[in-house]
Amino acid sequence: MFPRIGLEVHVELNTKSKMFCPCPVGEWEEPNVAVCPICLAHPGSLPVPNRTAVIFALSLGLALKGEISRISHFYRKNYFYPDLPKGYQITQYSVPIVRNAWILGKRIERINLEEETAKSLHLEDGTVLLDFNRAGIPLLEIVFAPEISSPEEAKEVLRALQSTVRYLGISGADMEKGQFRVDVNVSVSASRETFGTKVEIKNLNSFKAIADAIEYEIKRQSEIIMGGGKVIQETRMWNGKETEPMRTKETESDYRYFPEPDIPPLLVDESMIEEAKVLIKEMPWEKEERYISLGVPKNLAKIIAYDLELSQTFDSLRGVNPKRWAEYLVNVIVGRLNQKGKTLREFDVGGFGKLLEKVEKGEILEEYLKVAVQKNIFEGVPFERLIEEAPKPVEIDLESLVDELIKNNPQQVEKYKKGQKGVVGFFVGQIMKDLRGKVDPKRVSDVVVKKLEES
Ligand code: ZN
Ligand code: MN
Repeated sequence: MFPRIGLEVHVELNTKSKMFCPCPVGEWEEPNVAVCPICLAHPGSLPVPNRTAVIFALSLGLALKGEISRISHFYRKNYFYPDLPKGYQITQYSVPIVRNAWILGKRIERINLEEETAKSLHLEDGTVLLDFNRAGIPLLEIVFAPEISSPEEAKEVLRALQSTVRYLGISGADMEKGQFRVDVNVSVSASRETFGTKVEIKNLNSFKAIADAIEYEIKRQSEIIMGGGKVIQETRMWNGKETEPMRTKETESDYRYFPEPDIPPLLVDESMIEEAKVLIKEMPWEKEERYISLGVPKNLAKIIAYDLELSQTFDSLRGVNPKRWAEYLVNVIVGRLNQKGKTLREFDVGGFGKLLEKVEKGEILEEYLKVAVQKNIFEGVPFERLIEEAPKPVEIDLESLVDELIKNNPQQVEKYKKGQKGVVGFFVGQIMKDLRGKVDPKRVSDVVVKKLEES
């Protein structure tokens, strides 16, 4: 069975004003306070496209090496729903602002500029309340080619896309706030050459839900096909355990798309391209490469590079060993902060950096680092004090200790010379028996190997 997965992502842009009117974009406690005749669709009101939203769309298109349309068009997508007072949504159709962009080697067919609907609140007694603060917020609709073949791959490109819009600074892309919404379509076919029937899945509000729903749907469709049945084209909803039918899918002709007569063609000039380029700094995939070239292990480089906050934290500390810093950041600091319910912003990176420098100069033992992080995060002990309190490595004449040990254990030395390298562990163990916590085992091992080679 060959699954084909397509993704459609809606990203809310964090412009100051809405897509077609001057109403402010923000988070409001009161409903229906950021509204005007345009976003309430009063007759005779005229939409004017938001230039910043256009530049944001261009920045994503350029960052993802897409084809920019110098002329694109707005269309009306007609459907009736209470959260859509005009009875249509202004979106793009025949020519979107960006085509054929790429992320992690996966193709994005189109990026459309469009507008957000109002937010509806369904009460238990059946009443529906509407909040138009959200109506008209600029949206990017990002449509992937159905060329993704597994839930893991889907999750990976979505994470990369979320990270990209955050790097560009064009969206908070917070899934819980609905700023980054994903619909998935899945089809399964018995051969690579043919296409199966597409099923769309909605109501996916976490990466886990996305991956679980895809996996469930591949299995469901595969079973239908293997049992000789036919998959129905429909929209299904993820309920946390399985997908369930929602409605049969509208076909494109149901929307009666036609050009928006109130907005002239959208022209992209050189100055807009230049402004969009300014937003493109070092992108996550470039950071990943840079980290790897600094000696950071691949898996850690990826984790840090694709997380804006982590990478900013990582970059804020220079002059220390990048590999060690990456390991402590990801494997120790983040974990302890999570346990304590704290964020990275609350962590004293500079203080930790000073401690790390002392460790690298050999003034403090490395094994103290974990203890210090623990005390800092859980007990609030400042790094300055932790540095003062750190047990100092005692001055030990390691070389003569090892010389002595080698002299007293000639059989072990013979074994080493015959190729039994495990003997190093015996010598290190003997030394550490007395000096645990006072000397770095790695240093002991280095001296032992050196002396054995010389003997
Ligand atoms: Zn408005
Ligand atoms: Mn849309």
